[in-house]
Amino acid sequence: MYKLVNGYVILNEELVKKDIYIKDGKIVDYVENPQIINCKDLLITPGICDVHVHLREPGFTNKETILSGTKSAAKGGVTSVFAMPNLKPYPDSIANLEVEEHIIKRDAVVNVYPIACLTREEKSKELSDIKELSKHVLAFSDDGVGFKDLELLERGMELVKENNRVICSHAEDYNYLPTSNLSESEAVRKELLLVKKTNVKYHFCHISTKESFKHIKEAQEAKLMVTCEVTPHHLFLNDSLINNDPNFKMNPPLRSYEDMLATQEALLSGVATIIATDHAPHTKADKSLPYENALNGIIGLETLVPLVYTNLIKTKKASFSDFKKWLIDNPRKLMGLSYVNLEVGEIADIACFDIFNSHIYQEEEILSKGKNSPFIGKELYGFCKYTFVNGKLVYGGE
Ligand SMILES: [Zn+2]
Repeated sequence: MYKLVNGYVILNEELVKKDIYIKDGKIVDYVENPQIINCKDLLITPGICDVHVHLREPGFTNKETILSGTKSAAKGGVTSVFAMPNLKPYPDSIANLEVEEHIIKRDAVVNVYPIACLTREEKSKELSDIKELSKHVLAFSDDGVGFKDLELLERGMELVKENNRVICSHAEDYNYLPTSNLSESEAVRKELLLVKKTNVKYHFCHISTKESFKHIKEAQEAKLMVTCEVTPHHLFLNDSLINNDPNFKMNPPLRSYEDMLATQEALLSGVATIIATDHAPHTKADKSLPYENALNGIIGLETLVPLVYTNLIKTKKASFSDFKKWLIDNPRKLMGLSYVNLEVGEIADIACFDIFNSHIYQEEEILSKGKNSPFIGKELYGFCKYTFVNGKLVYGGE
């Protein structure tokens, strides 16, 4: 039983002081003799929902495990993560998915929702068991690779639509170099033609080019069920910073300054409605190779809120209610999770962020197994102090 005192919550764009009581996993209106958590200077919100995370287990436990990845999420105030399916075994059948579900049940400290493969082993040769898998997952994706067979994708869309699920697309057209804007925007354009035919609920991952945003905006104006996410790195970094440093290497890559501004504009104007991390841990060895050979991806769970808060909310480019929409409401809505607002009766998934004091992010504090972050050494506001999942304190308080 806890009582969170002296903290602020978001109410109609404003911060107001409010005490929160937690008992038996839920938010309640009063408890007798609670443990007091002092939330002075802290913003209290429902837990963050990240729709794009690579937890690497089963298969690649030298990079991350469900335990280390979810501890990293808890440290970031992220209480729900959607786990991408580029795993071994790939969750493309019920039997394979059960391997992942078993580890989640055993080890996860935050809520983990597996995303299943749309095609077997993400090979674009054959569809996964979409109908059966739909009873267990909320979304399908071949993240990490683009769809190479658009006819197969169209059949996949029909099945996903029939089963009332969503596709999360890693849009990449291999007719172009990955560093070319067209490799993303041509994939987006072609996939949107199929979305129009099938009317499936379709979400584009990590969109990063002005051309792609233009296509997505047109599709939204035509009332297709199309959404997209942007990442903190594409919002706040650009290709002028790469300098052959593997911690600035990811896919899609950092784009031009102009594309970075287009990414911010897409978010602020409502074309992109979700911020997701694409948390992609790697070993030191994978990231110590020369830039050309180093693997793609950076970690992101622990710096998601500090980057968004420091760059967009503290600067007043966006409001506290935008913050909640991008990081909590819209990700949950995309995946069909319930609306949350720290009301009595809700499950106590809660995060508390220090928005008034800055902190320099250090490698030593990282809880992910991967230390591959371009934000190490950055001074930011909004780091998480306490995280609760199901009413249990899973981060902070020591
Ligand atoms: Zn991807």
